Amino acid sequence: MGRYLNSSCKLCRREGMKLMLKGIRCETSKCPVEKRQKSLAPGMHGWRRRRGSDYGVRLREKQKVKRYYGLAEKQFIRYFQKAEKIKGNTGEVLLSLLERRLDNVIYKLNFAPSRKAARQLVAHGHICINKKKVNIPDFTVNIGDQITLKSSEKSKKRVKSQLEVNPNFSTQGWLQLDPKTPSATVVALPTREDVQFPVEEQLVIEFCSR
Ligand code: SF4
Repeated sequence: MGRYLNSSCKLCRREGMKLMLKGIRCETSKCPVEKRQKSLAPGMHGWRRRRGSDYGVRLREKQKVKRYYGLAEKQFIRYFQKAEKIKGNTGEVLLSLLERRLDNVIYKLNFAPSRKAARQLVAHGHICINKKKVNIPDFTVNIGDQITLKSSEKSKKRVKSQLEVNPNFSTQGWLQLDPKTPSATVVALPTREDVQFPVEEQLVIEFCSR
């Protein structure tokens, strides 16, 4: 699978919003999107204001979602096809499925500073679901799943030091965190309100269904 090896900040600048791809740096004044003059789209023609076509507007919404969750095009299409088969509003179902990805859950629990770091934590086998090691970042969590760390000191130390960086961090209602262990339980499925990301999911669906 092709990996994006260029600057993550360029992706935010292209979308004109903070996608929070770099962890702590995203919260500081070093973020290029915070610095107004550098929040232009990347490239030598980035200063030009383009009036987007209907296609362009929908494409940007799709790219926003894809980049926010760190997915490749094929992975994103697979999520869309899965969402289409599930009863309910396809846009909301799609966002709910993406929120339930294990790497996203680890990030939302503040076990890692970014989704990329969370993905690495999972892939390196530090995370267990219902006491079984899971090293697949796109694993979909379900109600009742218990998320714990591998019993090794290394795993616990790594996550505890991250939790100490931001002690006032509060998790979303669908996840119940026990910072002492540290561990968590999925108590509900995420709804549209739990997706704290300004996106018009209807436009994404229109793009994918064309
Ligand atoms: Fe995006 Fe973070 Fe870079 Fe800011 S610092 S542009 S939010 S990746």
